[in-house]
Amino acid sequence: MIDARRFFSRGPGPRVLLLGGVHGEEKPGVLGLERLAGQLQDGSLSLVRGQVTVIPRVNAEAVARGLHFIDENLNRVMRRHPAPATHEQRLADELVALMAAHDAVLDLHGTQAPTSPFVFLDDESVPVRRWADALGADRLLTGWPALYAGSDAVTTTECAQALGKRALTVEAGRNDDTAAAEFAFLAAMRTLGHFGLITGKPRPPAPLPVRLTSVVRRERDGAFVRPWKNFDPVKKGEPIARYADGVELTAPEDGCVVMPYEAVEAGGEWYYLAVAG
Ligand SMILES: [Zn+2]
Repeated sequence: MIDARRFFSRGPGPRVLLLGGVHGEEKPGVLGLERLAGQLQDGSLSLVRGQVTVIPRVNAEAVARGLHFIDENLNRVMRRHPAPATHEQRLADELVALMAAHDAVLDLHGTQAPTSPFVFLDDESVPVRRWADALGADRLLTGWPALYAGSDAVTTTECAQALGKRALTVEAGRNDDTAAAEFAFLAAMRTLGHFGLITGKPRPPAPLPVRLTSVVRRERDGAFVRPWKNFDPVKKGEPIARYADGVELTAPEDGCVVMPYEAVEAGGEWYYLAVAG
């Protein structure tokens, strides 16, 4: 059973769902939402309209064990599972019902590599873009749905969108970075402000748009040519990684390395490439 903490105002308004700990080792969302829930609980923060459901530890067992997941990646199986076969499928089934009862879903994650905060803008409609702009992230990353078109993997945002909801996934920063937990808290607060649930502060500066162009999976033993940080720029032809057999992977065009994860298991997403815009 997912520990969902619900907070109501006296007035009608948007119903917002805030998710942390979809991946157990990604502490920024867990810590940011624990802090927010604490303030709503002790009354230091109160809603002027609408309602919010805060779930700091969606995959509580994975959070307790510091694992990405127990049986499989929850952020790829976010759909109904009438006969759930894994821990994450049971969670997904419960989450779909929760999402259906809300208007907007914010899913807070963290990364392996150092990064400044960024937002996955899978839905480029004006209302969602406005919400993304209000979060205070440095970059908006587009292109994820196109990269995974035809895949049967379903993320939280894709699931929420399919239910007709507004949804954003935020990477708040590196998992062990306290600034990332602070950003996760701010992104949640700004979401409540954006939807008018709390009285808002001035809008932060607009983020820079970046578009994903490819995903590179690690096929065998190999290593990065240097410890990439998220959004490190690369020039066309510049080496990015090298397999143990000497085969080198280079940048196909000028752009940047996104979500580098050197130690990913074979077959996993090693890094992505993106370009400005
Ligand atoms: Zn994650």
